[in-house]
Amino acid sequence: LSGIEVLYFDGRTSRGEFARLHIDVQARLFLEVGDHRASFPLADVAISSRLGNTPRVFQFPDGSRAETRDNDAVDRLLGDSYKGSWIHRLEFDRRIVVGSVIALVVLMWGMIELGVPWAANRLAHAIPPAADKTISEQTLAILDDRLLEPTRLSEEHQDRLRRVFDRMADGIDDRHDFRLEFRSSSAIGPNAFALPSGTILMLDGLVEIAEHDEEVHAVLAHEIGHVVGRHGLRSVLQDSAVVLLIGAITGDVVSTSSLASALPVVLVETRFSREFEQEADLFALDLMRREDIPPRRFHELLSRIEEVGGGDDALPGFLSTHPATEERGRKFVE
Ligand SMILES: [Zn+2]
Repeated sequence: LSGIEVLYFDGRTSRGEFARLHIDVQARLFLEVGDHRASFPLADVAISSRLGNTPRVFQFPDGSRAETRDNDAVDRLLGDSYKGSWIHRLEFDRRIVVGSVIALVVLMWGMIELGVPWAANRLAHAIPPAADKTISEQTLAILDDRLLEPTRLSEEHQDRLRRVFDRMADGIDDRHDFRLEFRSSSAIGPNAFALPSGTILMLDGLVEIAEHDEEVHAVLAHEIGHVVGRHGLRSVLQDSAVVLLIGAITGDVVSTSSLASALPVVLVETRFSREFEQEADLFALDLMRREDIPPRRFHELLSRIEEVGGGDDALPGFLSTHPATEERGRKFVE
């Protein structure tokens, strides 16, 4: 193998040195500068294409490069090696395979990270209000049966909170019938839940910790945000990606009974995503401003729950899903 003459630049000094390049049958490119030898896989060397009489440049992976004006010699050198080296072709094929696998993994990741939430959002919004109602009634029945007891709040206190809730709900352009329901629970800490139908479940524990009705209003505004964002159903759907895929393929919305059996668990035991919480927070901020409720009320309540502690309840309270973080505090100051 004869190789070709090139002018070599080591990348550190601007002075060029004469060097020889040749390529072996295994598609390795050898460089000889004086008594210094280096070799690189040909595939790792960027070689500029032939363009008139401009010099051909070999860019090596170590940052050095070589040039020559002898275009024909370069073509001969490359032609021999490409023709002669089946190993090079194999190498090339392997790159295609590896590249395809990487592309596939990225695609699947994209489907899971972006596609599933997207589909869940579409499906959640496609579920008709009548189905929302059925799902919510079944969910409430399950919760009533297993975890909830009647409220101990006075009628007067309930009415007082309901008046503001109804006023907040009235101004919202949404197809749901917003309703406020009170319950108590010895099993669940101070908490509140949003059902897809627009029913908000408020637990006595949370009302009792509040020192001002406006703190309860703040939580109600946040929960209304969860209804409008359809966060409950979206969470259930996102968690059941397989069901979702089947639904997307068959064009069939997932059965209401399967959603109704999954929703109580999602509401009581798991937390909404950070993104959903932020959405509900922003919605609440807007609603509170409209109702002249000082935004800090939300943070004041959360901080108090944090101080008092949720007790040693078996199931998490509002705080576990809504920590009184600094970030939240900053958002909810006037
Ligand atoms: Zn929330």
